Amino acid sequence: MQTIKFAVLPGDGIGPEVMAMALKVMDHIAGMSGLKLDHTEADVGGIAIDRHGAALPESTLKVCRDHDAILFGSVGGPRWENLPPKEQPERAALLPLRKHFKLYANLRPGLLYPELSEASPLKSARIPKGIDMLCVRELTGGLYFGEPKHTRALDDGDFEAVDTMVYRKSEIERITLVAIEAARRRQGRICSVDKANVLETSVLWRKTVSDLVAERAPELELSHLYVDNAAMQLVRDPNQFDVIVTENMFGDILSDEMGVVCGSLGMLSSASLGSETNGHGKPFGLYEPGGGTAPDIAGKDLANPCAQILSAALMLRFSFDRDDLATRLETAVRETVVSGTRTADIAFGGASVSTGAMTDAILGNLS
Ligand code: NAD
Repeated sequence: MQTIKFAVLPGDGIGPEVMAMALKVMDHIAGMSGLKLDHTEADVGGIAIDRHGAALPESTLKVCRDHDAILFGSVGGPRWENLPPKEQPERAALLPLRKHFKLYANLRPGLLYPELSEASPLKSARIPKGIDMLCVRELTGGLYFGEPKHTRALDDGDFEAVDTMVYRKSEIERITLVAIEAARRRQGRICSVDKANVLETSVLWRKTVSDLVAERAPELELSHLYVDNAAMQLVRDPNQFDVIVTENMFGDILSDEMGVVCGSLGMLSSASLGSETNGHGKPFGLYEPGGGTAPDIAGKDLANPCAQILSAALMLRFSFDRDDLATRLETAVRETVVSGTRTADIAFGGASVSTGAMTDAILGNLS
């Protein structure tokens, strides 16, 4: 019997609500397919600040280390907004987790079912077939982590702040390999996004991606775009993209733009994969929904559980090598939404169901 061993970090706001639904679905999948689930819950974010004095306590880190993957909810909320920036739940929990587990590859599917096209600001007339793309973002290099990084007072009374954008060829190669693997599973097209007309790091980025794709995956179609043009093209015609691969800050901005173009945050999942392999010989990963803690609907049984459930599907695929179960789960979510059972965020003012009823409908389609 295969054991699926993962840490559960629900976090704040709607995090615990949608996490409970994802665990219910995972239990069902386990029962159906003879898997054994072994998961341990730990505090993260605001609730961890309240209970342990830190957004990512050592006890939580240990739970993560002892498991093969992390299923993450979301963190933060008004209650902790006045803390100093370095102590804010998102910054003090997510960035250290990424760094600790060397989660260098962030995969964000930009998936909008045709039936939900109206949820996109582009509306169904522009995207009648919905959207289906993938953003592969480098997550541990570039401007967010480069040194030196400081603010200092100058002798002339002025102030200077410095961030450093730095990339090694090896870092670019390993994220390109992730994009290659993803493109092979999809439509076989990669668009690499950079700013090679201005930045040294981007010149190295473009050459490295070009060389590696030519050497390892000549069957794939590779194109390059400057980031400003990519931002425009995403709004103009998102379906021209299959896989976008880009560095940390460009990916941060473009993947959020992609999220908006794809409609409700309640449908968007993500995977952050590490350089270390787990007990299954697959990447250790952190899996989380695209949205935040949604304080406006927290505690009201209104949250859409799909993003968290689809994140669990990505965990099954990437960290546990169970593409079959991931696909089943994704199909059940799709069938549920297409059949018209929807939470308020994707109901367009029509009849909507609660978080629990949405989950029950997904379970029905799984069976
Ligand atoms: P948000 O994503 O929480 O909410 C934005 C809008 O999307 C809200 O109207 C919300 O109701 C809706 N929404 C989000 N997820 C939904 C779901 N599953 N179902 C239905 N509707 C959903 O963004 P925000 O309001 O800017 O941030 C709220 C808090 O979340 C802040 O403290 C922020 O720092 C935090 N946050 C955390 C993460 C994370 O943990 N990775 C990411 C983003 C924001």
